[in-house]
Amino acid sequence: MTDTQRAELIEQLERERGTTLDKIAEFQVLVQPISPDNAIGRVSRMDAISNKAINERALHQARERLTRLENTLKRATSPEFGLCMRCRSTIPIPRLVAIPGTVVCVECAST
Ligand SMILES: [Zn+2]
Repeated sequence: MTDTQRAELIEQLERERGTTLDKIAEFQVLVQPISPDNAIGRVSRMDAISNKAINERALHQARERLTRLENTLKRATSPEFGLCMRCRSTIPIPRLVAIPGTVVCVECAST
């Protein structure tokens, strides 16, 4: 991986990190406890509860992605970074961004 590619990768990872942080902030609002007020009917209250479960799952996934992105950013400056653990070929940047934390190339991952 060239220095330019590495810089580009770090930039993309930072951008992804920003997007993920925004998502976490949004989901955190959506998973606020549902107040038992009478303003919403029973059915919409059940909707709210099931949406809350979906949002909680999404929040959890976004947090996991953030952790992976941050770990990837920490490793991104090491000379070993971006090399497939199995065949030592270079892992393409889009793959490193899409699946932060991956240590194998596409071919090795599919075999
Ligand atoms: Zn490989």
